[in-house]
Amino acid sequence: MIASVLPTYSRAPLTFTSGSGAWLTEADGRRFLDLGAGIAVNALGHAHPALVAALTAQAQSLWHVSNLYHIPAQQKLADLLVEHTFADTVFFTNSGTEACELAVKMARKYWYDKGQPDRTEIITFTGSFHGRSSAGIAAAGSEKMTKGFGPLLPGFTHLDFGDHDALTLAAARDNIAAIMVEPVQGEGGIRPLPDVCLKGLRDLCDRHGILMILDEVQCGMGRTGKLFAHEWAGITPDIMMVAKGIGGGFPLGAVLANENAASGMSAGTHGSTYGGNPLACAVGCAVMEIVADPAFLAEVNRKAGLLRQKLEGLVAAHPDVFVAVRGSGLMLGLKCKATNTDIVKAGYDQGVLTVPAADNVIRLLPPLTITDEEIGQAVARLDAVALHM
Ligand code: PLP
Repeated sequence: MIASVLPTYSRAPLTFTSGSGAWLTEADGRRFLDLGAGIAVNALGHAHPALVAALTAQAQSLWHVSNLYHIPAQQKLADLLVEHTFADTVFFTNSGTEACELAVKMARKYWYDKGQPDRTEIITFTGSFHGRSSAGIAAAGSEKMTKGFGPLLPGFTHLDFGDHDALTLAAARDNIAAIMVEPVQGEGGIRPLPDVCLKGLRDLCDRHGILMILDEVQCGMGRTGKLFAHEWAGITPDIMMVAKGIGGGFPLGAVLANENAASGMSAGTHGSTYGGNPLACAVGCAVMEIVADPAFLAEVNRKAGLLRQKLEGLVAAHPDVFVAVRGSGLMLGLKCKATNTDIVKAGYDQGVLTVPAADNVIRLLPPLTITDEEIGQAVARLDAVALHM
């Protein structure tokens, strides 16, 4: 009997048996250029030698001891994250969803400890995505994610992405604990929040003492050409969620916070059996050591410029299929005129993998290690896709 695996997405008729760099291969040897990178997870591509080495070494020494004990790989990764970010404190999770859950709890606990237990409301934005847990869907608030799942968890105010006036009014309320936002919306259709808006958000948070929570699960870890996307705006959040790219393919996430925002969290306040597991953290350290290198990030920016330029050409050549390129770094979206899911499917025949997103966009989230030659091949394959639409 063939078991039914509950699908997260409707599945493509593809089964990959191996991967290397920016390529995925089916059992019969057919190769695909992977411009999805496991939805921004495989930041360094498939089977990167440094990650394989880190994983192998850790697998030969220790797999799991639980968070009852000190874990050297976890400490090393926390040190690396603190060295390269605004944060003083790191709490490890297994996923982005779990990190978002904790961030919400952390913000509310902060105000509870400050003697303002009713300050629990979190401002979020339309089109946002913070995972599919009960708090995650309540935070996003979209009917697509919430319908049929009973009453929504209370405590979230949804505003239009970038609606400054509504935000200014809402932030003045005395029950606002935090503002939670993705610097670049991923699932929402690759929608970057302009730097000026991020700065404005920071100012607003400072004015009202509100905590600023940035969800960098998809846009972090070098994807935009900075280690974290908010660095482009020159601001720092109070709390930040990281996942996807940090594990390089292993289930790993983290909540990073400054000392003040994390002050309510002590041993036992929140927990995770596997969060910060030694195998995941060993891989995470190898990812961080490569991605945080300024020379690596400079290359990401150069390649992003090349890909963007070629995509602009693609859009100009196929106005019936594509409308515009948008995004930041190697987190790019093609706004489509044809139906985005049809374009993604047509890519299967041309050996190129992209990811659909809201707003009729296809996402291009290639491994940050993609070569110039592969960028050329990728756009040539997308050109062939457009010709067949
Ligand atoms: N937050 C953002 C911005 C995401 O893009 C995602 C996943 O796509 C999540 C949270 C949830 O992460 P995970 O799927 O690892 O639970």
